[in-house]
Amino acid sequence: MRAMDYRGPYRVRVDEKPMPEIQHPRDAIVRVTRSCICGSDLHLYHGMVPDTRIGQTFGHEFCGIVEEVGSEVEKLKVGDHVLVPFNIACGQCHFCKQGLYGNCHESNPAATAVGGIFGYSHTAGGYDGGQAEYARVPYADFGPTVIPDWMDPDDAVLLTDVVPTGYQAAEMGGIQKGDTVVVFGAGPVGIMAARSAWLFGAGRVIVIDHIDYRLEFVREFAPAEVYNFKELDDVVVFMKKTTDGLGADVCIDAVGAEASGNILQSIIGKRMKLEAGSAIALHWAINSVKKGGIVSIVGVYGPTGNLVPIGNVVNKGLTLRANQASVKRLLPKLIEHVKEGRIEPKKIITHKVPLDDIADAYHLFSAKLDNCIKPVLVLANA
Ligand SMILES: [Zn+2]
Ligand SMILES: [Zn+2]
Repeated sequence: MRAMDYRGPYRVRVDEKPMPEIQHPRDAIVRVTRSCICGSDLHLYHGMVPDTRIGQTFGHEFCGIVEEVGSEVEKLKVGDHVLVPFNIACGQCHFCKQGLYGNCHESNPAATAVGGIFGYSHTAGGYDGGQAEYARVPYADFGPTVIPDWMDPDDAVLLTDVVPTGYQAAEMGGIQKGDTVVVFGAGPVGIMAARSAWLFGAGRVIVIDHIDYRLEFVREFAPAEVYNFKELDDVVVFMKKTTDGLGADVCIDAVGAEASGNILQSIIGKRMKLEAGSAIALHWAINSVKKGGIVSIVGVYGPTGNLVPIGNVVNKGLTLRANQASVKRLLPKLIEHVKEGRIEPKKIITHKVPLDDIADAYHLFSAKLDNCIKPVLVLANA
């Protein structure tokens, strides 16, 4: 089959690879029809994530048609159209039983912090992903979710990560009616977090980024007040001023380890890699939220140290909440939101590309060319 192939930082291509096979009776093989490139794939592409191995196929946001099922798969049928959550979760362990499907204890033999993730580094289990014609899906009766007849596959594929991650960011913020919510990052997840903040009762939603075309998009889509941090003298001072000196009720970090905006953080975290990336968005979130407020983190960070003002967290009495989205837990609610038109995921798709053009698509998305917000690979057999 044809599949994306990681060859080292800033180098990806499409190669002929062996067809995935059923390795466990609970596996299924899915013929991929759509597969997104995610901002967190860019962390891999940029060489930021430890133990990203040459030859890995990325892709944790995909949907497709069930091609084959293992002998113990009972619910999923060959021919089902499914969306596949990015978390690989067994559905039965101590953590899955609590709905913490991003923290499954069984699916990632390499580590105990995060569960397995499709198409990520070997720190997340080293599973091949869905930027390919076919993918092996473990625990097939648990994760894959049949796409309702009425749902556009372009919407369905965004329910595998971007929508649930943005939604959970808002949920973890514990938003109260009328709250001011600040979202750092106007990428796909930040856009969905801003949209979701309203669904939880926010009274004011502000989005901060430095990429004007994305700010313009989220201004309409969320809708939100938007500010380019390059045009602000000091983000934190601005946030205090615009909230009567109190700070925002909830701050969401939807940026993670590759944040721009601070030279020291960029040199130490991104160029010299002495820390697990640049944590400036998290800095701003901690310092912009009110005393006793909540900071919700869904941006991706490495497991090791960061230049984070933890003393301010203590002194302000903040609550930090963070996790990989528990996609399967959120899907019933999100499918309802899409059905009722309260979230319109596919509006963020700016580019549809064939698998063979994947190198161009990574470059375009990484360099933020052509007003790219979300690129989706549409497979030839879709
Ligand atoms: Zn993703
Ligand atoms: Zn589990």
